[in-house]
Amino acid sequence: MSTIKERIGQAVDRLADDLETLSRKIHDHPELAYQEVQAAAWLSDYLAGQGFAVERGVAGVETAFRATIETGAGPTIAILCEYDALPAIGHACGHNVIATSGAGAGAALAAVRDALPAGRIQVIGTPAEEGGGGKVKLIQGGVFQHVDAAMMIHGFDRWILHQDLLGIVRVGFEFTGKAAHASTDPWEGVNALDAVIQTFNNVSMLRQQIRPEARIHGIVTQGGAAPNIIPEAAACCFYVRAPGLDYMWDLHKRVIACAEGAAKATDATLRVIELEAPYEPLKRNDTLLDLFRANMATTGALESPALPDRMGSSDIGNVSQVIPAIQPMVQIAPHGTPIHSRAFEAAAVTPLARQGMCQAAKTMAMTTYDLLADPGLVKKARAEFEAAR
Ligand SMILES: [Zn+2]
Ligand SMILES: [Zn+2]
Repeated sequence: MSTIKERIGQAVDRLADDLETLSRKIHDHPELAYQEVQAAAWLSDYLAGQGFAVERGVAGVETAFRATIETGAGPTIAILCEYDALPAIGHACGHNVIATSGAGAGAALAAVRDALPAGRIQVIGTPAEEGGGGKVKLIQGGVFQHVDAAMMIHGFDRWILHQDLLGIVRVGFEFTGKAAHASTDPWEGVNALDAVIQTFNNVSMLRQQIRPEARIHGIVTQGGAAPNIIPEAAACCFYVRAPGLDYMWDLHKRVIACAEGAAKATDATLRVIELEAPYEPLKRNDTLLDLFRANMATTGALESPALPDRMGSSDIGNVSQVIPAIQPMVQIAPHGTPIHSRAFEAAAVTPLARQGMCQAAKTMAMTTYDLLADPGLVKKARAEFEAAR
């Protein structure tokens, strides 16, 4: 007679081929933020097939979904899936593995439904992490209001239980100048592209004086129509990140000042555009992490220390500010593979990715089981969350 956790492990092993097929399908059909129509449908269909009651398009977000299994009055534990891809480089963040490890954890729990303690399991599909703030919209839509704890994993080049996330705010600058022939009448023009270039130069100087853990990086989104026309319109956007929200907003102000200075120097007109909701830092929850760690060890995964210099941002940070939530990093690529790279995109469908997906699915399912089996742990996670406010 196997224990319930052994049965969870066996269920994931049994489902592994289907999960890998699904992971590859999502990987090979990359869809950008809020356009993840196929991925959301495939995952919803899969979970419905495992016995979940699936709501498609929750909180007014068409490509979000919520799949629920209810076994009586008890805690609500959420397992989150992401499935959006990046422009130009596809699934270079490995969200196909996040999606199928979440769906796999749900499926494994559904397979042991007869033995589950009372409560509610929700596999929640959260679109648009790479920009667009899908989880922010779901928070605003009340999706997490009755959730007691949430977990998800993210692919990486090693296993790390808690990796800090930076807060991020995104800002766009549109400069308007005046067109003129660049050779015949250049003195009649106002060069909007020069304002963009000067903004980058100003930010480069600012960057020397900021704290090492903060990040400011941008791209040019519009740079003129032809070299023989003084550009009358040019634009760029910047991401500003810092571990604390106060410092993030301080830097945001200084980056805007860089653009204002550039506008002044070039005589271009500046319009500042706030681009979508900020992402918040990840609030640590050791109650949930300790459970995850113990279950992870049974799958043979080896934990690495956190890497304070390799920090990104995610809207799971926003979730972690409203309920206890964790996002452990799972190895799906060889050590040293940077994320958002072509190498990581290729790694996200290798045997190593399949292994990480299965270990993650088992670990999340077992951790969910632990929380349902002992609601005292849910209370403890909540108390830790409150104390960290
Ligand atoms: Zn990413
Ligand atoms: Zn990602």
